[in-house]
Amino acid sequence: MRYVSTRSAPGRRDRLAFDDVLLAGLAADGGLYVPERVPELPEDASAGAGTLGYAELAARLMAPYVGDALGGDELASLVADAYATFDHRDVCPLVELDEDHWLLELFHGPTFAFKDIALQVVARLFDHELGRRGERAMIVAATSGDTGSAAMEAAAGRDRLDIVVLHPAGRTSEIQRRQMTTLDAANVHAVAVDGTFDDCQDLVKAMFADEAFRRDMRLAAVNSINWARVAAQIVYYVWAARRLAGDRPVTFCVPTGNFGNVLAGHYARRMGLPVGRLLIASNTNDILSRLIHTGELAAHEVVPTLSPSMDIQISSNLERLLFELFDGDGAATAALLARFRAEGRATLNSEQHEALGAGFSGDRLDDAETLEVMGRVHAECGMLIDPHTAVGVGVAERCRRRGELMVSLATAHPAKFGEAVVQATGSAPEMPPALAAVADLPERCTSLPDDVTAIKDFVRSARRA
Ligand SMILES: *Cc1c(COP(=O)(O)O)cnc(C)c1O
Repeated sequence: MRYVSTRSAPGRRDRLAFDDVLLAGLAADGGLYVPERVPELPEDASAGAGTLGYAELAARLMAPYVGDALGGDELASLVADAYATFDHRDVCPLVELDEDHWLLELFHGPTFAFKDIALQVVARLFDHELGRRGERAMIVAATSGDTGSAAMEAAAGRDRLDIVVLHPAGRTSEIQRRQMTTLDAANVHAVAVDGTFDDCQDLVKAMFADEAFRRDMRLAAVNSINWARVAAQIVYYVWAARRLAGDRPVTFCVPTGNFGNVLAGHYARRMGLPVGRLLIASNTNDILSRLIHTGELAAHEVVPTLSPSMDIQISSNLERLLFELFDGDGAATAALLARFRAEGRATLNSEQHEALGAGFSGDRLDDAETLEVMGRVHAECGMLIDPHTAVGVGVAERCRRRGELMVSLATAHPAKFGEAVVQATGSAPEMPPALAAVADLPERCTSLPDDVTAIKDFVRSARRA
């Protein structure tokens, strides 16, 4: 299996193997890596999904993407180790919400949001590959919430990795901050920056833009543009469909911001999974659902909502789908994105808009509607759901057709967003013990100014020899 950049021209392409794509993250031309060909679902993975455990299924589905970067047994044991950190035997359990409407719970990992599913695997893949090469890497990341703690938890204690995560001081929730600052591992470092999330992101970009620093520190990224994250996320679509339906098509409703999660569903469909439709559920930051309806990509201001992990206006993973809509023409993909960046808007042609609409549909919920869904699900099913999940459930209910089998993706544990849950339902979600424990653990965090020199000095001092 080889990977190409979404901004490369046919015939003049670098074709990289999985291990290089894993460590590179972004391509040198600024594009994202995509597999040259999409493998078919392995026979035994579909037939056996009712009996295979989640980790076994994951190893089979990921194997063609990983290629010979790892032996089959190595991959299987790495993936099994990753999912042993989850607190549910099924890893991603299905819970019935209503007739033919199921919740796929993706929040049973160590940090209680769906980022764990990919990052627990990706950090182990990094560690393995760096070990093989006799190298080390320094992961630097900026976070406004869930990604930081999931990446730190996944990297904690790994031999070959150090990690520094920047968050905007005083602007994350207490529980999110504590998840990052209470980790007891010498190779993980939380930094509170005196600035906003955008300032944190700019600092990370500035570090990557400094070639010498990037090389000397062997900087690495684990953000959602890393192909390995998408590959790991394909698995739960296959898992859910096979458990529920055999060959009956399933429609998935996906609360999304960066388009990473729903893109994995699209790849599962391209591999041959019978997927009815993919529904894109947005909060007020609805650039994706507007794109589907109008064919126009138009940026608005980012508005803070009750579902902060979806407060995004520029969905980086969309580039991978655009590349497909442009028939693999990297120059045309790059031109559309350049226009969007310069002018804040860009338009698909009618053929592309139609192709998009054939595979995807979607809608948006504002905060009031989100709270209403949370209240109703609690009243009718006795179940507490978090605001991100509620955006998905609300859109699923609105878009659902008669006789359609629907799976809504539940992306965070309700206790992670307890305030919104109480506001919507009057009930406080039960705290999982591992989440409750962070309230009492000592915090370790370095406060630094919004200054790239100070941040670089800190990163240098954090890197183990
Ligand atoms: C990251 C996240 C999302 C959005 O996922 P994308 O891959 O950005 O589409 C949704 N819900 C929660 C809880 C998240 O942490």
